[in-house]
Amino acid sequence: MKIQKTTIKIASLMFAAIFFLASYNTEAQNKKKKKKKDETETPVKPEEKTKEKTIEELVKSSKEIDGLFKIYQDTITGTLQMVVSENQIGKEYIHFTQVADGVLDAGRFRGAYGDSKVFKIEKYFNKIEFITQNSSFYFDPESPLSKSKSANVSEGNMASLKIEAQDKEKGLYLIKVDDLFLKETFSQIKNPSYPGQSPTDFKLGNLDKDKTKINSIKNYEENTDLSVEYVYSTPSVLNGGSDAVSDGRNVSIKVFHSLIAMPDNDYEIRLDDPRVGYFLTQVDDQTSTSSTPYRDLVHRWNLKKKNPELALSEPVEPITWWIENSTPLEWRETIKDAVLQWNVAFEKAGFENAMAVKIQPDNADWDAGDIRYNVLRWTSSPQPPFGGYGPSFVNPKTGQILGADIMLEYVHFTNRVLYDKVYELATLEEPFEASDFKKNDVAYCSLGHQIHQDVMFASAVASASGASDLEMERVKRESMIALIMHEVGHTLGLNHNMKASQLYSPEQLADAEFIKGKCLTASVMDYATLNITRDRSKQGQYDDVAVGPYDIWAIQFGYTPFKTGKEKDDLLNKSTNPELIFGNDADDMRSPGKAIDPRIMTGDQSNDQITYSIDRIELSNDLMKNAKDKFTKSGESYQELRRVYYLLSGQKAGAANVISRFIGGVYVDRAMAGQEGETQPYTPVSLEDQKRAMSALSKYVFAPDAFDAPNNLYNYLAMQRRGYNFRTPEDPKIHEQVLTYQINVLRHILHYNTLQRITDSELYGNKYTLSSFMTDLNNAIFKTDIYSNVNSFRQNLQLEYTNMLIDMLTGKQSDRYTNNAKSMALYNLKNIRSMAASSGNISSKAHKQHLRTLIDNAIKEIK
Ligand SMILES: [Zn+2]
Repeated sequence: MKIQKTTIKIASLMFAAIFFLASYNTEAQNKKKKKKKDETETPVKPEEKTKEKTIEELVKSSKEIDGLFKIYQDTITGTLQMVVSENQIGKEYIHFTQVADGVLDAGRFRGAYGDSKVFKIEKYFNKIEFITQNSSFYFDPESPLSKSKSANVSEGNMASLKIEAQDKEKGLYLIKVDDLFLKETFSQIKNPSYPGQSPTDFKLGNLDKDKTKINSIKNYEENTDLSVEYVYSTPSVLNGGSDAVSDGRNVSIKVFHSLIAMPDNDYEIRLDDPRVGYFLTQVDDQTSTSSTPYRDLVHRWNLKKKNPELALSEPVEPITWWIENSTPLEWRETIKDAVLQWNVAFEKAGFENAMAVKIQPDNADWDAGDIRYNVLRWTSSPQPPFGGYGPSFVNPKTGQILGADIMLEYVHFTNRVLYDKVYELATLEEPFEASDFKKNDVAYCSLGHQIHQDVMFASAVASASGASDLEMERVKRESMIALIMHEVGHTLGLNHNMKASQLYSPEQLADAEFIKGKCLTASVMDYATLNITRDRSKQGQYDDVAVGPYDIWAIQFGYTPFKTGKEKDDLLNKSTNPELIFGNDADDMRSPGKAIDPRIMTGDQSNDQITYSIDRIELSNDLMKNAKDKFTKSGESYQELRRVYYLLSGQKAGAANVISRFIGGVYVDRAMAGQEGETQPYTPVSLEDQKRAMSALSKYVFAPDAFDAPNNLYNYLAMQRRGYNFRTPEDPKIHEQVLTYQINVLRHILHYNTLQRITDSELYGNKYTLSSFMTDLNNAIFKTDIYSNVNSFRQNLQLEYTNMLIDMLTGKQSDRYTNNAKSMALYNLKNIRSMAASSGNISSKAHKQHLRTLIDNAIKEIK
């Protein structure tokens, strides 16, 4: 019995249940009767008994849905059968999956792309097998080694299904395929539980075979698409999930499966180069003796010139984008303009009108999830996992992009603070990881979240300075263009370029005329912070309105139909041009202790990030002074003021993280040996810049007054009451919040990787030695007040820092610290011990006594 996908009222549900039971009972009785009847019958002759049913007989009560794989759906039970033809056996196909709808609680959201993989259909006696193929290795077909290419590589047998009937003449086999689609056969839908997961976390139940169903089947010549609703059930739940989960015991995740014919075209693979940032399919050449036996396939569209002889030609088939009909009308033109910006880059690669934009008609007969359409989609989710997300899927054998979508979240334009915690913790790390659905999914993009915060900040700055509505609209429009260009860039194959913000100086960015109409960085693929000037008279463009020089160059590399290898090499050899600077997520320093080049950072801007970040902190401080007056509206609650307070603090914390990355930093140059303009792969940050970073941290992060806000502001940081449903206790946790910002910085500069690198790089040019850095840090945290009164922020900081030093010596991770770092930690602890004599007011005396006790006890533990 198939329950239709409609809202079922309780009455009809009960009716359905009764009907189900009744029909089940009748069926069971019929079976019993039938069995009895069979037993009493005279035995049939052997040839009659083995007479096989024909395909026609088995599908006679089914609806035929013809396409790549012919599917029959039973009109009464909904069960599926599929025809596999002789010429499909031994052939390779692509399977691709994406989430049609999910819930964030289960880590699944609309539009999330899964992996695409190659599978082969094989026949084994009376079975049809579906076998995942491995495309990670290459063997030169000329090499005898290629004969052993299957050695020690596991293929994946996903399903082995009995042939129910066959048509020998036509070479057709009929198989039942419910197990193929209604189970997690092609791909894992439910997240596995991981070690350390809290028992109180939201969990999906087990896949419920009876409730899982096919919602639609669409069959085309090149692809067979099924929309499946997986239902996970459990009788009881401890945690019922968020408001988005209607019933935690029964959760649906809707998934599109596409079986796609292997493209048979003249697509030319393009191998990756480390100097440009493309998504790639990693392939190892097993017959090569090189130390870099890489044949990594760049992901790109199959763009062909209509007139190959022309320097500039239209493509045979442009990359066409559809604006989903759910897109707000007022934004459609802006979105279209943003997509078409990429045509500027394609022109340099020899293509005219490579990108085209159309609008999905309101009465379109296709769904945005249809893989044949590239759609710019628009949603307003309960917990937006991103502001924008631009996934694509490829033929794993070649890297050819076969389809893409862009998901945009309406939250981008709102002042909805969905992640209160984001401001309080300000870790710059993604609030949500989508990557578990798609392994190594670097296409997942949290730029939208950052832009959202920046847009709110820019709006706050503009509004505090009495900007016009037009100006406020400009902030939104420019950030929207930047976000769309960025997400479109992903769908063209480009990954991030977190180094691109090195393009202009702070002075150039504060020159409205100079930056007009430009990309503010070398690439729209960066996560640069919005350009906001402290001197409001100098405010120019807030965000990118054109693609950058790196973007053009990268598209040239990916799409130019090169006639010779030299032509391509000449282009790549331009990588040392400062405009073409590149470094992506793998190299970026957003998480404490990760990576080494401070220029490859998120939330930064300009070729002088320290100056720019200090300016951002001072701008936030300026706003904090008058926040209460500027952001309190008569007749409204103080929720807005609270939001702005966290917003300003968050901007300061983000800027502090940017500055901290210079300590122990090492610049990376990925130019090839002998390339014109090459410097050397590793160059430590200059002593001057490291010192400059240290003194900025000292002043803006650690100083006794670093996080001062007008005291009476705290009295007003109130939430608006909403039923019983607001955080309690509701009072602002000011000290905890400030300490979190400080710890975020300390976590990086005292990270074992950073300290190890400082010592190592002393051998190759680093002049800011471990001993001088750690002495400076100790002084920054103690010197100004340890001999007198210590305020409550500083007590918190000093205690936390002391504990971090102790942890370096005796903590769980002490093994990871070098001996040099441990010695300095002990040296500093002893210094603190001698500085922290009993003096000052009672609170300060108590604090210092606490420090002395901690240090004394720790020293006893050191072996
Ligand atoms: Zn991105």
